[in-house]
Amino acid sequence: MSVPRYLVTGGAGFIGSHLVERLLAAGAAVRVLDDFSSGKRENLWAAVGGAAGVGPAPADPVRRLEVVEGDVRDAELVRAAVDDCRAVFHLAAIVSVTRSVEDPVGTGAVTHGGTVNVATQAGIAGVPRVVLASSCAVYGDVDALPLTEDVPPRPLSPYAAAKLGSEEALVALARGGASTAVCLRLFNVYGPRQDPGSEYSGVVALFTHAAVAGAGVTVYGDGLQTRDFVYVDDVAAAFVRAAEAPVGRLQAAGTGAPEGVPAAVVNIGTGAQSSVLDLVAALRAASGRDLPVEHRPARAGDIRDSQADVSRAAALLDWRPAVSLTEGLARTYAAGAAGVS
Ligand code: NAD
Repeated sequence: MSVPRYLVTGGAGFIGSHLVERLLAAGAAVRVLDDFSSGKRENLWAAVGGAAGVGPAPADPVRRLEVVEGDVRDAELVRAAVDDCRAVFHLAAIVSVTRSVEDPVGTGAVTHGGTVNVATQAGIAGVPRVVLASSCAVYGDVDALPLTEDVPPRPLSPYAAAKLGSEEALVALARGGASTAVCLRLFNVYGPRQDPGSEYSGVVALFTHAAVAGAGVTVYGDGLQTRDFVYVDDVAAAFVRAAEAPVGRLQAAGTGAPEGVPAAVVNIGTGAQSSVLDLVAALRAASGRDLPVEHRPARAGDIRDSQADVSRAAALLDWRPAVSLTEGLARTYAAGAAGVS
């Protein structure tokens, strides 16, 4: 039996490298397409190393990983990259909301334009399934918690608009007979290898970095604002499940696409709300450090609360989060302390 091959765009990034690790550990062949604008080669080394720990043979994951350096907007390159793939996982994007506000044209071209290119080439090549890394940002500032996928999207940034446009492009292409599609609206993903390098990095990456360094953290506002934090291994598992979900299930009612269209929009979170101060407490417990807190005024435009309804993920993908916040933070801290993250 031949080894299944998958394309992971953005595979050298934080989430992408965990997905690559999971696919390699399962014995698959993986092609990564990445321009290394925010992704790193060391993430791929870590993915191969992690897969070697559980995979069929230690040297094997290296042979099954192919890395293509380039841009998801490049039609010819993507045409070659999708060849012979069982599914395409499309994660490449410019992920900074702030950058999207400063350069809506440039970030839209990569995030939305790149998606249209990848999905078009996948359809032409007859790839059965495309799975998109979309975002809970498409909901904007909505009061109706927990957020179900049927809440009307209200994107507040060019980043969120580009993600919503990407979802719509995939559904439209699936309707026209191109690849079947699953759009995963990821909530706040955290875990090892998340870049703590900018002031706009995820709060878990920033706090973990501070805990490892024995420094303090800055909390904006009262710290009681909540997010739905989901561990990166659980997210990687959701991508794999999304690639495998039967077409019949996608064509049913309640998928976020018109009935009969083999596409779905699915939240990926935990269904739980955790406050920023909950994070601080859990990291103190995981690290044994004081982690002093400095409060600053709340930032304008920050959403107060967020929480996913994850019942569609359970029903359509048979996926449920497995890692608690306490466990996930302990793993993230341990990886940071060991110099992995
Ligand atoms: P990341 O920056 O680590 O990964 C993005 C990857 O895409 C990087 O490896 C980067 O080099 C690559 N890339 C960017 N532009 C490219 C281009 N033009 N051509 C080829 N490759 C390109 O970010 P991440 O946190 O791993 O995010 C992965 C995906 O998940 C993104 O689509 C992001 O929008 C989405 N997402 C992330 C979160 C989160 O909490 N981290 C939440 C919601 C959605």
